[in-house]
Amino acid sequence: MAKDIGLDVPTPSEECDDKNCPFHGTLPVRGQILFGTVVSNKMDKTVVIQQKYDKLINKYQRYEKRQSKIHAHNPPCINAKVGDVVEIAECRPLSKTKSYVVVKTEARK
Ligand SMILES: [Zn+2]
Repeated sequence: MAKDIGLDVPTPSEECDDKNCPFHGTLPVRGQILFGTVVSNKMDKTVVIQQKYDKLINKYQRYEKRQSKIHAHNPPCINAKVGDVVEIAECRPLSKTKSYVVVKTEARK
């Protein structure tokens, strides 16, 4: 059975046996919730999420486009694909570069 992870997200319809899945495993989530677009799912159970944002440059009173990439764990029951808009939640560090896990995917753009 899937457990309540304490976030306002729907439980995935599929089940998985990944121990690093917040719904079916033992991975607690806490801290920040972020949104972004999946730009790569080539790694095993890992997706790269890109965020685009505008940063105000005071000297010119204009916005500069910036982007950042975050690696996140992609549990088999969520299975986010390239182009998906996803919600990721902070968790304990899962590897050198991963400390977020995908908790929700939204419609592909
Ligand atoms: Zn799962």
